Amino acid sequence: MALERTLREPIHLLDPELYVEPEPTPGCDICGALVRQLREARNQEGPNYDLTKASDIVVEIGRHPHEDGEPK
Ligand SMILES: [Zn+2]
Repeated sequence: MALERTLREPIHLLDPELYVEPEPTPGCDICGALVRQLREARNQEGPNYDLTKASDIVVEIGRHPHEDGEPK
């Protein structure tokens, strides 16, 4: 089937993870730095353009613990 062949091809640009906006914790320097790196990794015209890295950064922001940084 022609359709099956199309679906097998890698579709990196359509990976939904790449377009998820992570929610950095306000006041967390690490999250702030990660978000900045994420913007750079997503910037096609920038020197640090790397969508694989962008995806990793999104995961990293989601996993960043905030034992001390959480607002009370
Ligand atoms: Zn953080």
